[in-house]
Amino acid sequence: MGQTAKPPRQNRTLTVDFHSETTYFALLGNTKAFIECVLAFILSLGFQLTHKASCSEGGRLTRHSHDARVRLGGLILWRIQCTTCKAVFTVLPHFVLRYRRMSPNVARQALIATHGGLSLEWCAVICNISPMALYRLVCALGQQSLVAVLTRCGLPLPVYILADEKHSRCRTDRVYLPTIASGRVIWHLGYSESQSAAALTESYGVFQRAALKHKPSYRVQGARTDGFDSTTRSLRTLFPGARLGYGLRHALNKLPSKLIGLSAPVRMGLRSQFHTLLYRCRQRRSLRVVALGQRLRHFAAHIATAVGQEHGERVRNWFQDKKAGWYAVLADPKMPASSTLLDQAHNAIDRKLFMMKGFHHPGRRQEAFLTGLAHLYNLIPYQRRALNAGQCGVEVEGGRWPTPDWMLNLQILTSGGFR
Ligand SMILES: [Zn+2]
Repeated sequence: MGQTAKPPRQNRTLTVDFHSETTYFALLGNTKAFIECVLAFILSLGFQLTHKASCSEGGRLTRHSHDARVRLGGLILWRIQCTTCKAVFTVLPHFVLRYRRMSPNVARQALIATHGGLSLEWCAVICNISPMALYRLVCALGQQSLVAVLTRCGLPLPVYILADEKHSRCRTDRVYLPTIASGRVIWHLGYSESQSAAALTESYGVFQRAALKHKPSYRVQGARTDGFDSTTRSLRTLFPGARLGYGLRHALNKLPSKLIGLSAPVRMGLRSQFHTLLYRCRQRRSLRVVALGQRLRHFAAHIATAVGQEHGERVRNWFQDKKAGWYAVLADPKMPASSTLLDQAHNAIDRKLFMMKGFHHPGRRQEAFLTGLAHLYNLIPYQRRALNAGQCGVEVEGGRWPTPDWMLNLQILTSGGFR
């Protein structure tokens, strides 16, 4: 007998909102009503079930398999089955989490506290759970991809993206978190130990594969980066037809480092002139690219006369290298203009990783943990005094919510049985 590895069992859990525990227990005694309730719930979400690949009639009426119920801490769970493909779905009532003793209410408090910036350890203390349990919960949420969850919310795949890597540390090693964002939502949050173009292509490729699986005709039209070489190369490989632009803000911050050996006031003075130049080009209604090209030439000449040929030459070469990317940003008004939101998200996630160095064990669940954190970033509503208070990133971007309760939405959207 060959040692063929069993394929991992497909997670076909369905989190269903029964409104109250009493309703759930009452329905357990009535098979027909139970199935009807589950079907009505799925219909109200507008989701499809994950049938087996062979099932051509996916979505056909399902019936429960009689003896397939399991006890989880004394609770009876029912399974329902597709009569055509025999796919079995476990129906999880809204008041339990998959494979977990922790109640959704405890999880809600702990997740909102960790999302708000409290360390896993402190969240665990105030919610009376173990830090490891909270870590595992975030990893479990991260089993579902960001693309799957965001498209279930009705968000279209992003045509214009912002791609950037956060530099972080895992104990003493440098690590990178390749990220794809659009507006207020994160579409990809990966983990890489190298910043080579190959490693970044591998990470961004995870997003690309998930997106193409969802919509085979998906094409990125424009991507904005900081102009870092590996990122540019990886995006060019993955999205050959896309317009690649470089952030102007990043360019502004880079200028002083091109003026080696000059005094700080001189460098800052030139930076502020460069700022005015970029700002004026952005404000123009037409011929923005032509205007920028002209002004860059004049500015390099100005630097050469003001502080020396050598500096003028260095800045001119730098402009030469990057200008195509800057032009791309100015030429297409739909290109993402600001990366402030992504920077904020990166910093918050980095603080979280920093606070939990102990969990960077070789068990290699970093991807799942990071994806879980990104789900929280996308789905937890903004706090009371924020702009868009009470809404989460998905809502601000025009996505649909299954229910008004973010924790329940998180449970439903990360269920493996929905398509
Ligand atoms: Zn089926």
